[in-house]
Amino acid sequence: MAKQKMLGFVHTAQRMPDKRTAEERRKDFREIYARFTDQRATEQANRCSQCGVPFCQVHCPVQNNIPDWLKLTAEGRLEEAYEASQATNNLPEICGRICPQDRLCEGNCVIEQSTHGAVTIGSVERYINDTAWEQGWVKPRVPSRELGASVGIIGAGPAGLAAAEELRAKGYEVHVYDRYDRMGGLMVYGIPGFKLEKDVVQRRVQLLVDAGVTFHANFEVGRDATLADLRRKHAAVLIATGVYKARDLDAPGASLGNIVPALEYLTASNRKDLGDAVPAFEDGSLNAVGKNVVVVGGGDTAMDCVRTAIRQGATSVKCLYRRDRKNMPGSQREVAHAEEEGVEFIWQAAPEAFVGDGNVSGVRAVRIHLGVADATGRQTPQVIEGSEFTIEADIVIKALGFDPENLPDLFDEPGLKVTRWGTVTADARTKMTSVDGVFGAGDIVRGASLVVWAIRDGRDAAESIHAYVKAKAVAYAEAAE
Ligand SMILES: Cc1cc2nc3c(=O)[nH]c(=O)nc-3n(C[C@H](O)[C@H](O)[C@H](O)COP(=O)(O)OP(=O)(O)OC[C@H]3O[C@@H](n4cnc5c(N)ncnc54)[C@H](O)[C@@H]3O)c2cc1C
Ligand code: SF4
Repeated sequence: MAKQKMLGFVHTAQRMPDKRTAEERRKDFREIYARFTDQRATEQANRCSQCGVPFCQVHCPVQNNIPDWLKLTAEGRLEEAYEASQATNNLPEICGRICPQDRLCEGNCVIEQSTHGAVTIGSVERYINDTAWEQGWVKPRVPSRELGASVGIIGAGPAGLAAAEELRAKGYEVHVYDRYDRMGGLMVYGIPGFKLEKDVVQRRVQLLVDAGVTFHANFEVGRDATLADLRRKHAAVLIATGVYKARDLDAPGASLGNIVPALEYLTASNRKDLGDAVPAFEDGSLNAVGKNVVVVGGGDTAMDCVRTAIRQGATSVKCLYRRDRKNMPGSQREVAHAEEEGVEFIWQAAPEAFVGDGNVSGVRAVRIHLGVADATGRQTPQVIEGSEFTIEADIVIKALGFDPENLPDLFDEPGLKVTRWGTVTADARTKMTSVDGVFGAGDIVRGASLVVWAIRDGRDAAESIHAYVKAKAVAYAEAAE
């Protein structure tokens, strides 16, 4: 026990058992995420001290003019608050719901720094924009004139959608190609519906359709066209394909049944909520009800898995992470919510092997000591000899992160340069890749990141594409003279 404390981990057996039923947990959760009333939004907006040093704005990736829209909300001028909010963000009610505000705007609020608790900026942003939708203030941005040039966008995640809206508003004919049946990328099939309702994403997609954007569903670049095909068709192309190659576990027994990748598990749950037929959910292989669930990993995807499993009615949900709480890549707020809902965290522990007969029945894990820091400044995990223990598991979910697919191969474009991690190389300022007229945005350029960063990249790429197409048009005109 003394040794455990010294090493900084808490064994699950030391935790108080959560006696709430699954329905009680769901109710508590709904309250955490309940939408603001007018009064609460005004109260929160009024708490902004208009300090004059908007660290919140600086730390918001799209540089939202937060102090202004908080002031307008406090004064009851909601339509103007909406105008200010949508001027910098294409998906503001989505960011209001799912940005890790504790790491971004709210974490840098001066009131938070003075220990009085941040203004709940994300909730006010959500309130302003949900109200705008209800009041009919949100309108498609139909251009006043057509430019007579088209842009092809590969991927309908937040990066692709933000770029599509900006380019269409400038007057481009915009075609978005996506290999999925629904548009929205990870906002539809990755992020669970209890954090981000799917109709909130779909109404944004419909807004783009109403603005004149053409979506090509079930269209996989690499299978249905090459990059060269799209380059011939469009004045410029944007690659916004995200990162989808799941990192795997390399341990004895890793191929047993019921050891599943996180995105497969989350997609099944999202499809089920969307009303699709999901045989792997119906037959129980991707459904946690009545099961002992072990999730391996410590990022936001792991948090989404544990919280989905709780909602599905799992018997127990444990999260195994090799580092300690403060070194977890996931949002601390998500961890706190997961704990409140009854998830048990086993810090500084890693799977050594999986046991079972056909299907997994347990995870043999080892304790980890965090040693000296490596070149990146992170302490190196070291296995503590003789520390093995076994956790009961009916389903194991692997949430170890994602890498990019091999795009030069997939797109049949060897000239497309990628970094040593496989992300597409794009100029930091222009977002142009190594292929002329082909741009990159979102996770495929920066690696697995956030929705708000993808939006920022999509907006920046749209500006650069516009500059590129204009410059090309001028060059053609001059050559023709
Ligand atoms: C489980 C999970 C939970 C997350 N939770 C949060 C959160 O709470 N908050 C947050 O800010 N971020 C979260 N993220 C991260 C966030 O979802 C991503 O950073 C963001 O969606 C990246 O946007 P993107 O547009 O670059 O790519 P994506 O959203 O991944 O979209 C890429 C699109 O490209 C399409 N595509 C890929 N290849 C092809 C091809 N060859 N041809 C045609 N189409 C193709 C895909 O079908 C997809 O629709 C989460 C991620 C995961 C996995
Ligand atoms: S977009 Fe995200 S970081 Fe920016 S103000 Fe909204 S919630 Fe905060």
